[in-house]
Amino acid sequence: MKASALVAEGERALLAAGIEAPRREARLLLALALGVEAQALVLDDPAVDVATGERFRTLLARRVTHEPFAHIAGRRGFWTLDLEVTSATLVPRPETEILIETALAHAGDRRAPLEIVDFGTGSGAILIALLCELPNASGLGVDVSEPALEVARRNALRAGVGARARFGRSSWWSHVRGNFDLIVSNPPYIPSADIAGLAPDVRDFEPHLALDGGPDGLGAYRALSAVAASRLAEGGALIVEVGEGQAEPVASLLRRSGFPRTRIVPDLAGIGRVVAAFT
Ligand code: GLN
Repeated sequence: MKASALVAEGERALLAAGIEAPRREARLLLALALGVEAQALVLDDPAVDVATGERFRTLLARRVTHEPFAHIAGRRGFWTLDLEVTSATLVPRPETEILIETALAHAGDRRAPLEIVDFGTGSGAILIALLCELPNASGLGVDVSEPALEVARRNALRAGVGARARFGRSSWWSHVRGNFDLIVSNPPYIPSADIAGLAPDVRDFEPHLALDGGPDGLGAYRALSAVAASRLAEGGALIVEVGEGQAEPVASLLRRSGFPRTRIVPDLAGIGRVVAAFT
């Protein structure tokens, strides 16, 4: 069978299931089954053997249920990294790269020996991306989920920063000792009542622990800000991702929690996406 025929078949099934960009997704699934880059299927229309066709249909059947492509592939690109992701970790989102950019801009001198803590590290995406860019930094990735921490440890090793990354279980600050130059987090921030209305790809497959921010979505920011200012070194910063409409409330919470200066960084849609607070 030709690749184009399988892509067309996949596109029909994904369209019927209400998956966005069904043609692109069908091509990605076939590329995964073939073990090639999706680009190869744009430029070429190879013949696909029966076993690969069956493998494609098995992957397709999973995607039709709205299981995220990243879970099916077991990987997701973030920053310069190719990260392992599982159902225990939030799939890293492109908007979280704004947090990385903001943190790097604050760090200034990339050779500084910074100490970083990443709360709700999940796949380790934020901490690992920062350690890759800051060669003398070291850091702690914290999560309440042990399965997530195992994924993060593997990702740190694969990215070559295993020696500078530590991972440990803690609910926010409860088991975290010491002071830091940089506190970062993409915490759960979706108000509990909004979870039911999320896209099924997110709602039915991603860990609610990483999504549910309590009644008003701001629970994690309260837990973080309660002690953050007292655990930052001179000139340090706390930098967090926030949901739509949360930037002002979070900035004001941080100003009431010992951070005299805050800054809001918008995403490409103009939504305040990252809040930075300085001591
Ligand atoms: N950005 C994620 C979403 O919209 C939410 C991640 C989070 O709660 N930190 O699905």
